[in-house]
Amino acid sequence: MAVPKLELRLLGNTGLKLSSVGFGASPLGSVFGPVSESDAVASVREAFRLGINFFDTSPYYGGTLSEKMLGKGLKAVGVPRNEYIVSTKCGRYREGFDFSAERVTKSIDESLERLQLDYVDIFQCHDIEFGSLDQIVNETIPALQKLKEAGKIRFIGITGLPLEIFTYVLDRVPPGTVDVILSYCHYSINDSTLEDLMPYLKNKGVGVISASPLAMGLLTELGPPEWHPASSELKSACQTAAAYCKEKGKNISKLAMQYSLSNKDISSVLVGMNSVKQVVENVAAATEVALFGKDQETLSEVEAILKPVKNQTWPSGIQHS
Ligand code: NAD
Repeated sequence: MAVPKLELRLLGNTGLKLSSVGFGASPLGSVFGPVSESDAVASVREAFRLGINFFDTSPYYGGTLSEKMLGKGLKAVGVPRNEYIVSTKCGRYREGFDFSAERVTKSIDESLERLQLDYVDIFQCHDIEFGSLDQIVNETIPALQKLKEAGKIRFIGITGLPLEIFTYVLDRVPPGTVDVILSYCHYSINDSTLEDLMPYLKNKGVGVISASPLAMGLLTELGPPEWHPASSELKSACQTAAAYCKEKGKNISKLAMQYSLSNKDISSVLVGMNSVKQVVENVAAATEVALFGKDQETLSEVEAILKPVKNQTWPSGIQHS
């Protein structure tokens, strides 16, 4: 049987068609452990070979290292620019947050230089819950619209953890101003709350990217990095689920990828990758689920293990007491 091609999915009203598996480049900033330049380039090359056309980064990841590594990878592989989609972000930096019009306007030029590109397809305000949402609406997004007119970016996005930030902003900007939202850790086996927002986003014609299908490492055999913000209860439940899968000869990461990919309203499932092996495994998870569907038996068992922590999240952003 021929292996199906990685599916392309339309992103809201943008006309962009994203590969269902997107390449999250935060690991290229050595955020999940050191990554060599040759491994970074090889991962990007393998991604293209297997049909991935969407790459996401930020100046924040590894203090600009992720953007530089991705830029080197894209250049080394040499695919024509109109055949792939790059998103990066603004407003969050190693030094802190700054969503002012002045800073984000400067930010795009810095990112383009590091990425060695003339434009990015999607430019996103990064983790807006750490800023003033009214500033995002009244100052940051208008500044991004000017960058759109200047041809430095094609589409505008917002990202963050709490789901209510998206409705707050989208309710206050003219229709068609924000093209995309990037949500993370809310469409994984342990937390599927993004689902509730889907009808609203669809109605607005806003494209949906869902990141961190492996819950930033919780749904991996290796477990999460030191800095992971989940409670010890959530970490331990995920560890138990991973061990259960392993014992059964299954892989929790594959199961988690397939869970996220099954929701077709998500245009791209953005998974962080730093090796050829991970690229191969994650694309194989997608092609396999397209052919055979989900492993419902193991999924139900894992869902039962994770039931006590289902939809448990963690605080993010400015905390109001
Ligand atoms: P993730 O859930 O994708 O997990 C990444 C971790 O899983 C890394 O350690 C990676 O090496 C590992 N991994 C990947 N494939 C694997 C496999 N097949 N088997 C075992 N381990 C595997 O979390 P993430 O990287 O944080 O999220 C994905 C991407 O989404 C990021 O790189 C970033 O581009 C984006 N993102 C954006 C935001 C935001 O804008 N606020 C937040 C989170 C993520």
